[in-house]
Amino acid sequence: MGEKKRANFFVDRTIIKVEAGRGGDGMMHFRREKYVPKGGPDGGDGGRGGSVYAIGKKSLKTLLDLKYKSKYKAMNGADGGTNRKQGKKGQDIYIPVPLGTIFLEDTTNEFIGEILKDKETLLLASGGRGGRGNTRFATPVMKSPRKYEKGESGEEKLIRVELKLIAEIGVVGFPNSGKSTLLKALTGTNVKTAGYAFTTLTPNLGVMNTDRGEQVVICDLPGIVKDASLGRGMGLQFLRHIERTLKLIFLIDITAADPVQQVSILKGELKAYNKSLLDKPRIIVFNKIDLVDNVPEFDIPGERVYYISAIKKQNLDLIKQEI
Ligand code: GDP
Ligand code: MG
Repeated sequence: MGEKKRANFFVDRTIIKVEAGRGGDGMMHFRREKYVPKGGPDGGDGGRGGSVYAIGKKSLKTLLDLKYKSKYKAMNGADGGTNRKQGKKGQDIYIPVPLGTIFLEDTTNEFIGEILKDKETLLLASGGRGGRGNTRFATPVMKSPRKYEKGESGEEKLIRVELKLIAEIGVVGFPNSGKSTLLKALTGTNVKTAGYAFTTLTPNLGVMNTDRGEQVVICDLPGIVKDASLGRGMGLQFLRHIERTLKLIFLIDITAADPVQQVSILKGELKAYNKSLLDKPRIIVFNKIDLVDNVPEFDIPGERVYYISAIKKQNLDLIKQEI
């Protein structure tokens, strides 16, 4: 896998269309009063069209929502009224996005901005100005102006949205321990639409929706083998993707000859790559309990241990709670 491809490993991207509202038209109107043949001008201004903003939302971790809904249109401003009544402003809309999301004009590639903090906003498309009513055009020499303005149209843009995904949970283990199966079991059933696939991501990245409505990105890394740190197998080139995870799941095949020793080997490989990986909180998960008659209770000092079957979805709730 070339460097270029790997650089895209965790980039989520999509295109949205944003359309701000048009401004309301100004009113052309004259006061009508009893006994006054022609009153002064009293046409009000049109209201401004609604704008489209992005807003940071900490609990979001992917652009999934923007892929389901890719068009956003704010409301138009209302026309000005009689009696100098200003038209109502069109309502703005706010598109919630994960922190770290960047926005580019699709056609020009121009950088619009990025969202880094919770509740931070970024203007994506500005609402059109409302037109002025004829009241505004009255002058000492032109007391009965028939002039007024139409509202301006709102901005309309195609925007490329990009996000560098950071997996918060990393599943590590030897080949065939069931990492991909576990990832699918934890995330697949929660994806809102079946058949959804990240366009630019490798399949070993999934999003789990928690009961609290938060999204958690989980990655499953190609199997680590003994002496991977010495360059065997796939080597540890993928481990850099877990350097920023918050928590690790060590996944061990319980049918292996010596499952507990596998934990030590795994630790050794991670440590050889980057000692700090062992400082991350982790759980030890023994998989494939459906294949053994009696589930053993290993005593591994200082570790939180779980026993599951990824394929039969046994005890997965415990893992979800941990996550
Ligand atoms: P990975 O290499 O760690 O990603 O492992 P996979 O998820 O591809 O699984 C390797 C093999 O183990 C596949 O044939 C899976 O169907 C099987 N497998 C995974 N989890 C379980 C499990 O809980 N029970 C059983 N019996 N087989 C499993
Ligand atoms: Mg796999």
